[in-house]
Amino acid sequence: MPNRSAVLTEYLQPHLGAIVNVIREMVQRESPSNNKQAVDVLGEYLADIFRSATARVTMHWNENFGDHLQADFEGVDKGRVLLLGHYDTVWDVGMLRSMPFREQGGKLFGPGVLDMKTGIAQMLFAIDALRATSGGLPRPVTVLLVTDEEVGSESSRKITERIAKDCAAVLVLEPSFGLTGALKTARKGVGDYTIRVHGKAAHAGLDPKKGANAILELSRQLLKVEKFSDSARGITVNPGVIRGGTRTNVVPAEASCEVDARITKLAQGAALDKRFRALKPVNKKCGLEIEGGINRPPLERTDAVAKLFHLARNLAAESGLQLKEAAVGGGSDGNFTAALGIPTLDGLGAVGEGAHAANESVVIDQLIPRTVLLARLIEEV
Ligand SMILES: [Zn+2]
Repeated sequence: MPNRSAVLTEYLQPHLGAIVNVIREMVQRESPSNNKQAVDVLGEYLADIFRSATARVTMHWNENFGDHLQADFEGVDKGRVLLLGHYDTVWDVGMLRSMPFREQGGKLFGPGVLDMKTGIAQMLFAIDALRATSGGLPRPVTVLLVTDEEVGSESSRKITERIAKDCAAVLVLEPSFGLTGALKTARKGVGDYTIRVHGKAAHAGLDPKKGANAILELSRQLLKVEKFSDSARGITVNPGVIRGGTRTNVVPAEASCEVDARITKLAQGAALDKRFRALKPVNKKCGLEIEGGINRPPLERTDAVAKLFHLARNLAAESGLQLKEAAVGGGSDGNFTAALGIPTLDGLGAVGEGAHAANESVVIDQLIPRTVLLARLIEEV
């Protein structure tokens, strides 16, 4: 008797063209996080196809971003599984002109194709294949697609956490790690800090001593912040955006810097936060203001995560795939669900390269094996 993966593969093979079509339809509806109108157009398209797949669709209305999409599928027997993803991208409307959707050299190209529109197509077809080959879903499945993941998930975090709490496992369809297709079993936590210096303006030529130079003070602070990085423990800080001053002949009264901070363990967050808040002005005439904090906890490779990965590795072997795992610096919404203690496996989406880059693409040959792997996980977790 052929194994389950072989049965699912046989069902999906004639549907490869349909999978590519759905990906094309999604990519051609451009959906940058900051353009609600555009994102909602894709949301309507997705709501329609999930409804046609007999899901009960709930659109979570959102004022500033696109509406978050929840699709609930009925199933029997086991605990609910959450398939998690996002349909916003980092690409502005109009990018299709310079990076159109196209098929070339065994790959699909286009804005958002890897991160993570192909992952959404995998969800749809995994559910379809399970239904077609076993007469129904082996368990209830919820699909949650949010619209603000690329900008920090502030408006969707609560929804993600509320749904995940009732689930046996969370499968995240973010792209896999590199062309090897490795899953992501550890992700760093992410924080954003803004350091603001308030100095005092004065004429740079006539009475510079009356001023307090905010740019110089900020520079001194950044040399301290640089030392917060600890590569051995996986802690990094990156002053990424700096602002300050008005003109060269004025002692600048204001300067600020936005700093990206990353951690590998939840406990490191509090310690790092303390260090930022303990910064004191070197020039006593300057005032310091520290804003921000850790906004995504790290996804730690707990026993539950490792167990889920081992299951995935065994299921992938049914299709002859050798599945690897990786620890990565970027965060996803899986960080939230893992921090709640829900077994979470990330990077189950497309195999490809160039996320957030002009060569963003996915490997066509991997579309079906990855969809089969997802279907098998829905059955077995
Ligand atoms: Zn993503």
